[in-house]
Amino acid sequence: MSRSEDLFAQAQLSIPGGVNSPVRAFNGVGGSPIFIESADGAYMFDADGKRYIDYIGSWGPMILGHNHPAIAKATHQAVDRGLSFGTPTAMEVTMAEKIKDIVPSIEKVRMVNSGTEATMTAIRLARGYTGRDKILKFEGNYHGHADSLLVKAGSGLLTLGVPNSPGIPEDFAKHTLTVTYNDIDSVRSIFAELGDEIAAIIVEPVAGNMNCIPPVPGFLEGLRDVCDEYGSVLIFDEVMTGFRVSRGGAQEHYGVTPDLTTLGKVIGGGMPVGAFGGKKEIMDYIAPVGPVYQAGTLSGNPVAMAAGYAALTELSDPELYPRIFARVEKLLDGLQARADAAGIPLTTNRAGSMFGFFFTTAEKVTTYQQATECNMEHFKAFYHSMLDQGVYLAPSAFEAGFMSGAHTDADIDATLAAAEVAFAQLAK
Ligand code: PLP
Repeated sequence: MSRSEDLFAQAQLSIPGGVNSPVRAFNGVGGSPIFIESADGAYMFDADGKRYIDYIGSWGPMILGHNHPAIAKATHQAVDRGLSFGTPTAMEVTMAEKIKDIVPSIEKVRMVNSGTEATMTAIRLARGYTGRDKILKFEGNYHGHADSLLVKAGSGLLTLGVPNSPGIPEDFAKHTLTVTYNDIDSVRSIFAELGDEIAAIIVEPVAGNMNCIPPVPGFLEGLRDVCDEYGSVLIFDEVMTGFRVSRGGAQEHYGVTPDLTTLGKVIGGGMPVGAFGGKKEIMDYIAPVGPVYQAGTLSGNPVAMAAGYAALTELSDPELYPRIFARVEKLLDGLQARADAAGIPLTTNRAGSMFGFFFTTAEKVTTYQQATECNMEHFKAFYHSMLDQGVYLAPSAFEAGFMSGAHTDADIDATLAAAEVAFAQLAK
């Protein structure tokens, strides 16, 4: 038995499912999760001392690679000054200014402790601001685990939300309408019926929780138009795409400006941080200036702010994003070529430093439906072969992959060599 297997057996006695967040349990791929002890640059090291090339990056935050010296130094210095004060600090002001500078649609910003808190509050704010109850989201888009947002409902148009998890009252879920991602007609027709009751559209501008599915041309622009027409708030959930698809996020890359933006992951440099921000007029509905309540004992925590600020500062390196994007291209082109050579049906998607690959005969994957129809047996077998060979991919076919600034050409070459072996095993 490996040390990871030992630890997992022990963990299950004290932690539900042995994990503090479900996807970590490997239910999507089978087998036992790997317990990580340390990480550096592009690598993670497990409890048995094995090294992995990491393409999860802590599910997104680690765009600069693990244990980045500037973030580590800033964090250590902040720890020495005290862990938490529960008062305003100068660093919170500096951080807010930095975010505004990088994401120009944000005129005011409030820091929270996770992406879930950010989206939950953005929804409350949109409802308070518009005086409407309903919200519109997209099937397969994940916005954290707040009640309003943990609603999936069937594909296509629907009028009543169905709870995705027991514990969410039907009465609550019915205010969440769910339509098809990348299908602007489904949005238009539900707005034609209920538009005056819809407070907000919330969208992952690049869907990263059903593998990686970029918006089709015109989709985000269409959402902007519909919100303008009906007086609804457009919320871009950039918890994953923020500082990733480009420095200014998906909104910068696609040139569509939301009213509110939610942020997380990269913004904390690896510490638990989230944020929501946007138009001053809407943000001033938040307490203490406005009536919509939101608060947090540890919000704007000085250690978390120091780590996040150091991370955002490093993103100004003009060579960082072109380098990461080139690595993504090399990885995906290499995967495609090797899958083709082995006769394994595969297609890939990319958006900046996010990527995805799909075991399917479809030429391009643009919908949730297509993502769910991929060959799961191929994915699982490929996943385990890569893991055995020291390549750490997300243990689910419905998660995006993440490249960091620490990945080298040699890491990509090693990954592609492993993939060649994995595809050959699949082809047998
Ligand atoms: N929004 C998106 C797009 C996410 O990908 C996630 C998490 O993966 C969340 C919100 C929730 O963030 P957190 O896990 O920090 O609560």
